[in-house]
Amino acid sequence: MTHSNQPYIGRFAPSPSGELHFGSLIAALGSYLRARSQQGIWRIRIDDIDSTRCIKNADSQILNALEQLGFTWDGAVTYQHQHTNLYAEALERLLNNNQAYGCQCSRRKLKNLQGVYNGACRFLKLDPNQNGIRFRNTRQDNVIFDSVQGQHDISLPFAAQDFTLKRRDGIISYNLAVVIDDIEQGITEVVRGADLLDSTIHQQQLYLACDHPYPKWLHLPLALDISGYKLSKQNKAKPLDLHEPQKTLIQALNFLNQPTFAGMEELTPASILRYSIANFDVQSIPKKRK
Ligand code: GLU
Repeated sequence: MTHSNQPYIGRFAPSPSGELHFGSLIAALGSYLRARSQQGIWRIRIDDIDSTRCIKNADSQILNALEQLGFTWDGAVTYQHQHTNLYAEALERLLNNNQAYGCQCSRRKLKNLQGVYNGACRFLKLDPNQNGIRFRNTRQDNVIFDSVQGQHDISLPFAAQDFTLKRRDGIISYNLAVVIDDIEQGITEVVRGADLLDSTIHQQQLYLACDHPYPKWLHLPLALDISGYKLSKQNKAKPLDLHEPQKTLIQALNFLNQPTFAGMEELTPASILRYSIANFDVQSIPKKRK
């Protein structure tokens, strides 16, 4: 159940937890080239649902960096905090359909379960307004089909667990927010880093629970630091050097194994992107990078 025959709508959805770094540039560039090479729409959404991780002005720093790198996007930039009523409506629908339930388990208790929730609160009928909320998962599907990663099998206990929709502290989960946002914005393909591949199964299950076709998935190789960790704002990845945006773009193109040529750095960033759209080759994107 995926979209077909629809105009392509893609997006880049950075969290405003720091400045744009090389890892997030890969997600921006990959999603941009994929959308524009199909004459598609490319939207930007700032994923600021987890206010505890947001850093002041990181959103404008990210947008300025994208501008300096020659990116252009369609429509106004949206923010998850503008969508809180949509998340509340979705939660209410899921609760009314018995597809969600209140959960009182503390984070400490969950830590001991090593990433797979044991359904302890499933039949306790706890008040969802006074507790966290979980998806009542009745599905046994654990496979993702991805345009770069191919068939990706996820461990069944992880895939089939009752995952969080709303935390006990009231924060809407990433999985619920991203699905509701992508439905609202008509996204036909999600292009992002491969660190989100496993949680994609829960998003797919949520689309089905919302009676909505799920988008296509494309997970890009992750940029790792020299110790093999994902480059991320939490790992204090260096912000991009924007003094020479051309060089930065060429590095990112090399990372995605896209065509570049000697002297390319003489072009403007916008011209580099135009060339890269015209020569974009999804088949060349590696599954992983060292
Ligand atoms: N906001 C997430 C991040 O910055 C990406 C979410 C997504 O693309 O689905 O890692």
